[in-house]
Amino acid sequence: MSLRNGLALLFLCLTALPLGATDIVWPTTMDRASIRNPQDYLQPTVSGKMESALFGMVREEGKRFHEGIDIRPAKTNADGEPLDLVLAAMDGQVAYLNANVNGPYGRYVVLHHTAAEIPVYTLYAHLAKIEPSLKTAQPVRRGTVIGLMGRTSAGVSPITKDRSHLHFEVGLMLSRGFNRWYDAQPENKQSPNLHGLYNGQNLIGMDPMLILGQPKVDILAALRSQPTALTVGLRTNKMPDFVQYYPALMRGDTSRVAGWYIEFSWQGMPVRWTALDAKSPQLPAGRWRLLEIDQTQRTRLIQRKMLGADGRTPGELLTQSLEVLLSTAR
Ligand SMILES: [Zn+2]
Repeated sequence: MSLRNGLALLFLCLTALPLGATDIVWPTTMDRASIRNPQDYLQPTVSGKMESALFGMVREEGKRFHEGIDIRPAKTNADGEPLDLVLAAMDGQVAYLNANVNGPYGRYVVLHHTAAEIPVYTLYAHLAKIEPSLKTAQPVRRGTVIGLMGRTSAGVSPITKDRSHLHFEVGLMLSRGFNRWYDAQPENKQSPNLHGLYNGQNLIGMDPMLILGQPKVDILAALRSQPTALTVGLRTNKMPDFVQYYPALMRGDTSRVAGWYIEFSWQGMPVRWTALDAKSPQLPAGRWRLLEIDQTQRTRLIQRKMLGADGRTPGELLTQSLEVLLSTAR
């Protein structure tokens, strides 16, 4: 092949590459063309505050975290129950089906998207019905009907008819060894793990609006766009399951790893991992240590329990997340 032809072929290959773009659809049958503003698709809590339907510390005066977004129905039947169907947002496979109303999510479906730039899960909760033909591990195309929007929940306050919605989440899994960790906790003796790896404690969501509402999205770029809120130095010469599962979030020389410098987003996603060698000043004396805190994010880090009430020491959530991340290191 001549140099010119070679270059032409290279150019063709480069321009034909999808350049990190995963096709994505809105997860309900709502006509997106009819949407003029967020009120057209958001379902707020009984507070009526629109932001309560969004991702973040948006509930109970900023004290309660909402890990996804709540999408309202566009159509209801004569009884006021939703007629909107719930759709797979991206190509993927069925990871988990929970047909019982035995937790705050009610009936829910989890999909896993291994063909995206980084494997993410999406979660669809409070369904009235799960599409009966769905089976675990079955491949699904984006836009496939996975259920009917509803209001199922075994949470403390039932979801009333006028607040029916789809709770939609997207995120990562802390550890594929979560079940072992959960069962080893004495306080969990009385509450068996009903949802295995898809237990909410093992899933860490990001803002779905970073990916929804556009036809194509680079999932990895969306994940990386989350700023660092605090950092932790961790001592272990092992590769935690998280970095084995999500190598795209890891950098540095892993051949002589003595520990990790982990950057967490405010809601507790360990977004960036840097391998440390034995001489690194970030390597803690003990097992792990909180290193830096972005003071502009202090309030929500405290509310989220990533920090203690003093705003300086590790909070319960950070401690638990590190236990889960560490306990399964191989
Ligand atoms: Zn919700």
